[in-house]
Amino acid sequence: MAIATAGMTIALTMGLAAAPSKVAAKAEATDARLTGDKASTTFQLTLSEGLMVQAFTLADPYRVILDLPDLTFQLDPAVGQKGRGLVTAFRYGLFAENKSRVVIDTTGPVKITSAAMTRVGSGKSVRLAVVLSPIDAASFGAGTGATRPQEPDAGAKRSLRADKKATPRERSKPVVVIDPGHGGIDPGAIGINNVFEKTIVLAVAKQLESALIKIGGYDVKMTRTDDVFVSLDDRLEYSAADDADLFISLHADSIEGKKFAESVRGATIYTLSDKASDEQSRLMAEKENASDLIAGIASANQGANDQVQNILFDLMKRETSNFSADFSHVLAKRLGKTITMSRIPRRSAGFKVLKQSHAPSVLIELGYVSNQNDEQQMTTAAWQSKVASSIAAAVQIYFSKRTAERP
Ligand SMILES: [Zn+2]
Repeated sequence: MAIATAGMTIALTMGLAAAPSKVAAKAEATDARLTGDKASTTFQLTLSEGLMVQAFTLADPYRVILDLPDLTFQLDPAVGQKGRGLVTAFRYGLFAENKSRVVIDTTGPVKITSAAMTRVGSGKSVRLAVVLSPIDAASFGAGTGATRPQEPDAGAKRSLRADKKATPRERSKPVVVIDPGHGGIDPGAIGINNVFEKTIVLAVAKQLESALIKIGGYDVKMTRTDDVFVSLDDRLEYSAADDADLFISLHADSIEGKKFAESVRGATIYTLSDKASDEQSRLMAEKENASDLIAGIASANQGANDQVQNILFDLMKRETSNFSADFSHVLAKRLGKTITMSRIPRRSAGFKVLKQSHAPSVLIELGYVSNQNDEQQMTTAAWQSKVASSIAAAVQIYFSKRTAERP
């Protein structure tokens, strides 16, 4: 992947209190809209008060990123799915602790012509207006002397997991890491009735956590417990730090096209492989691996990280891949008794989040949010708890087999 270029950075503030009040309520974003055309497009965000905003552009793919303090987004869930002018779509959400982000996808290289906040009415409300105009790729790359904005440091990200300064591991208990996909700024797949993948998988993850705790005998960890973005690297890092014995990543799929949306449904279990089992799985992995780009993380470091991971992966894969396959086998059986499975329920592809150095891992696509039946079911607590119980039962079978095999 090409090195991403930060085109330009603009920072602005308005109406900031001299000293932040200790009991200040969270600011709200109450309206977001696009105006203009292909010559000049304006992104507008109405905020309950003046805030510090940092705006910058990124390439590969071309995006405009707005970083703001932690906000409550009171917006129509469908807003941002329809583009206008130079903008194809935008999304918003929590990016890291105390940091919200808006990611605006553009049709090509753009420059931020202006970014300003103006008061709305007589209250504290302000309207942020970011004006974009087209620019050629060469000028975009040359940039405007702006530096790449810093990603939040590891310390800040880490503190999002309250349980992180972990209790020392109880060696006798296998560690199960549950990984609800996406979160915060990255909604994942969006259903036909605007249900977000990130919401469904978090609900199932929490049910699975409870089910495993209820069974007992496991040390259960989660890569996220809130609607917050967690990068793929961090998910891998958490799993390694927790010394996982099993890593379960939860996702939900979607498929384009009305005809497919009506007929394609059911769950699929993926394990890691260098070469995808089929073209559909390869595309699936590509889509899931794009999570960091969707959240507006520059791809500059990706090459180096991937290399390190590939080395680890090569060293360990033989041992762990057998265990991953074992679990996938048990899981397909259990899950197949409970919910609709896809036509080929066990597949493999190069999912980044499954590139664990030591933990056997699977990624479960629970169903298709693009399918009316699947989407409706997946939002019900009854379905979520049924799925969680099946996965928990598979975990139990898997570990009891491994214990029995041990000399
Ligand atoms: Zn996903």
